[in-house]
Amino acid sequence: MSGYNPYDNFLDVLDQAAKEVKLHRNDYETIKYPERELKVSIPIEMDDGSLRVFEGYRVQHSTLRGPGKGGIRYHPDVNIDEVKALAAWMTFKCAVVNIPYGGAKGGITVDPKTLSQNELKRLTRRYTAMILPLIGPERDIPAPDVGTNAQVMDWIMDTYSIMKGYTVPGVVTGKHIDIGGSLGRAEATGRGVMIITEEMLSRLGKKATDCRIAVQGMGNVGGISAKLFAATGCKITAISNVSGGLYCPTGLDVAEVIEFAKTAPITEYKKDGVSYITNEELLTSDCDVLVLAALENQVTADIAKKVKATMIVEGANGPTTVEADKILNKKGVIIVPDILANAGGVVVSYCEWVQNLQSLNWDENDVNVTLKKVMIRAFDSVYEISKQRGIPMRLAAYIVALERLCISRELRGIFP
Ligand code: GLU
Repeated sequence: MSGYNPYDNFLDVLDQAAKEVKLHRNDYETIKYPERELKVSIPIEMDDGSLRVFEGYRVQHSTLRGPGKGGIRYHPDVNIDEVKALAAWMTFKCAVVNIPYGGAKGGITVDPKTLSQNELKRLTRRYTAMILPLIGPERDIPAPDVGTNAQVMDWIMDTYSIMKGYTVPGVVTGKHIDIGGSLGRAEATGRGVMIITEEMLSRLGKKATDCRIAVQGMGNVGGISAKLFAATGCKITAISNVSGGLYCPTGLDVAEVIEFAKTAPITEYKKDGVSYITNEELLTSDCDVLVLAALENQVTADIAKKVKATMIVEGANGPTTVEADKILNKKGVIIVPDILANAGGVVVSYCEWVQNLQSLNWDENDVNVTLKKVMIRAFDSVYEISKQRGIPMRLAAYIVALERLCISRELRGIFP
């Protein structure tokens, strides 16, 4: 959508939540503004000897409840408004699951697939050096997001540590296990999506295994949640990646499709009963639960009118536009919002950081038990507000988070 600003999307929901609980402007005015925004120009020597300068950002939306926390995105569409919105959503995400973090986000405007490993390494190290004054285990802790992974986190940790003169594992989360990553972190967002979906369904008297589930996205969130759903006996009727989607009314062999898509376009996958569908056909396909695990602004007003699912779970950040949200609410579609549904990643990031600060290694089971406990507790508080007030889950989640933020604001006061 031209002229669309995702930060306005955030402000819109924030105002609705503040109005619903009758907050005074002074109570939440500061939360409308990101605390700090840093823009950096990152020069890199390419493998062919040429020089390129990339744009990068780190925004700390809030450190009211603890250090900034949030991923780093490498994507061609990264821009300051997107990073600001993603940082604000992190503030609300951490508050809704009640972990002691604020919200931050970073990114570089780049298509990482077009760079060699060495170029990517130089880009990451230089970017880290340039955002160094902002980050640190007590200040702001990056993590993976779209286009970044454990390897990128390892380089950030190493660069930061070299600059400090000692190893600081707690400066980033989502690292490889061998250098301080946490068991269960790689699957955490997908696992959280599954936990929250099952909780929501159970409140409606339904079971996930009786539902037809369509998943947009096959990455760290979509791919893993689809695999976990399938492993518990659920039927995944559609799945997609950037090259398109597949549909099978009796359920896809998800593990096989994901394996296939690692080396070939999904369009080339052939199996009886499986047909190729476009991204829009996936979003409007015949299903009960639609998991959105790709990027922002996927469900637009036009698509919302055609959605057949009765429940949407936002595995991605901001996948539903404001207009689409209104249409879906009117249609009675239940939307489990991003700040709740995809919080599993940051919850296990918190587990990783706690382990790093204490030089401990938890068992995978301890991590998964903590994840489930935190997610269900957050779900319960959001669901209760939603029922009490008769409002959508998104607004309820914002109210839970906003009230926690306002309490911190009031107790801390304004400096000076
Ligand atoms: N990028 C993930 C998110 O949007 C994880 C952030 C984190 O673990 O800090 O929630």
